[in-house]
Amino acid sequence: MPTTYTPCPVYRKCGGCQLQNLEYPRQLVWKQDRCQKLLGRFGKVSPILGMECPYHYRNKVQAAFAYDKRRGRIISGVYQSSTHRIVPVDSCQTEDETADRIIVSVRGLLKDFKLQAYDENTGRGFLRHVLVKRGFATGQVMVVLVTGTPVFTAKKHFVAKLRELHPEITTILQNVNDKRTSLVLGEREKVLYGPGYIVDELCGCRFRISAKSFYQINPVQTEVLYSKAMEFAELTGKEKVLDAYCGIGTIGLVAAKHGAGQVLGVELNPDAVKDAIQNAKENAMKNAWFTRGDAGEFLAQAAQEGEGWDVVFMDPPRAGASGEFLTALAACAPRRVVYISCDPETLARDLGVLQANHYKIEQIQPVDMFPHTQHVETVVLLSKLNAKQHIEVELNLDELDLTAAESKATYDEIKAYVLEKYGLKVSSLYISQVKRKCGLDVGQNYNLSKKEDAKVPQCPPDKEAAIMEALKHFHMV
Ligand code: SAH
Repeated sequence: MPTTYTPCPVYRKCGGCQLQNLEYPRQLVWKQDRCQKLLGRFGKVSPILGMECPYHYRNKVQAAFAYDKRRGRIISGVYQSSTHRIVPVDSCQTEDETADRIIVSVRGLLKDFKLQAYDENTGRGFLRHVLVKRGFATGQVMVVLVTGTPVFTAKKHFVAKLRELHPEITTILQNVNDKRTSLVLGEREKVLYGPGYIVDELCGCRFRISAKSFYQINPVQTEVLYSKAMEFAELTGKEKVLDAYCGIGTIGLVAAKHGAGQVLGVELNPDAVKDAIQNAKENAMKNAWFTRGDAGEFLAQAAQEGEGWDVVFMDPPRAGASGEFLTALAACAPRRVVYISCDPETLARDLGVLQANHYKIEQIQPVDMFPHTQHVETVVLLSKLNAKQHIEVELNLDELDLTAAESKATYDEIKAYVLEKYGLKVSSLYISQVKRKCGLDVGQNYNLSKKEDAKVPQCPPDKEAAIMEALKHFHMV
């Protein structure tokens, strides 16, 4: 890598901006090459979408605090990569400038209020970290003071002084982290001023963000990313959509606003789910629901119950999706999957699994969410291979249900109709048996079981009559 451009004084020590020695256009070439190497075997990789102004894009900034014996003063900054040594940083080219200024002010106030920085070795002292989040669209600012102890002397005065210095602050929290851990935030949280959360806007929706919940750190590029994701989803107003790994519900709610018929979001972090539910209310989205759970477990259960979606958005953390999630996804057989990934390596692994499960990779679009760093975000469109192609579906005989890989809407409509009119629950398998009897094309080769002696359950007469009537109702026979 050529070293032509090193504008940041702590570039080497900090290690956060691995590509800062390259001018921005060359960083984009580097990222494009990386995607090409890792993802090129799945299809054409579209040119990466970069930023017009790739500076100060981070809306979330956190700084660690410590007493520096050598300098005889409290310092704040970032951990030197792979160490617990703090590199003092007062301003950073990737971080929001307001946030940086607030952190410097907090450091000054510590001295005025005779408060100590936390000492990792002894577990004593007061301030460990400061976390600042700013809504770029709304200007709202959250400051979280992460302390090693719940005791906060002169708390009221401290808060008043900080607000005086920075009237733009809309909420201040104290988070208590008294554990010997490298995690920034602890469990306990106290609101010291304001509502305890901030609100921001993305793609025409408003989002409430709390201290612990995940929110994309580059809002300018998030709009670019989400717009691509919506374009890929081709929502027409009817689709049943799953937003897996939904965080505070951003993708699901943007989808609900842009043509999803109904949206369900699933997320592990309880704070994020609370925010997502509140966000649905605040955006008056009556067709969006959110639930807490492991995305893999949730989808496996849904697959067992014969639940299906037309479009699945998935946005897992860096580790990618679990095997359980991918298997269940293939079983649920959505027509389109929009995979948003922050790690092209795990993305490549997961695309391989989905490709082997009859998904075609249609589009691969990298987006530069993290200029100057080596991180690459990619949004990929996958579509279910068309029904004429041979699809192997393994049937779980205990479970008497089968996922319709052919026409979700029709199967779901028939199920809903039969349930409402006759109070009977019918499976896709039964529907496909009755359709076959009526000479209708079920559109695929259900290779029902690999076991030679497997018995395929047969639709009982009452359900057959009900399904037959539904087929008539829908003018299919
Ligand atoms: N789609 C959201 C969040 C993406 S980040 C957005 O664009 O803002 C990934 C999210 O996955 C995080 O909110 C994290 O809490 C959640 N997560 C991590 N592991 C999970 C799991 N096993 N099941 C469900 N959610 C998980």
